[in-house]
Amino acid sequence: MKLKKGDTVLVITGKNKGKTGRIEQVSPKINQILVTGVNIIKKHTRPTKKNPHGGIIQINKPISASNVLLLCPRCNKPTRVGIKMLDKSKKLRICKKCKESVEQWTN
Ligand SMILES: [Zn+2]
Repeated sequence: MKLKKGDTVLVITGKNKGKTGRIEQVSPKINQILVTGVNIIKKHTRPTKKNPHGGIIQINKPISASNVLLLCPRCNKPTRVGIKMLDKSKKLRICKKCKESVEQWTN
């Protein structure tokens, strides 16, 4: 998986198509990412002692990493991520459109 926590992504397919958000969490083994504000499921809850009126709770669910493109922080375009080898062990992720690094220096 070439996506990392803190990346901003654009959803390109599925019911959340067109939405953008920041990655909160990545699960490389199952190829899923949790994107803030994308794929919010509303769940109706029955009244309980804690919450006597019941109501609707919102859960942010993960989506498939293959449904998104990275939004390049340099050129602001949705792009696939390329890898550039700096030396034998150091990899840098680059934007395939503008060829600039897409690493977030803050965080
Ligand atoms: Zn770019």
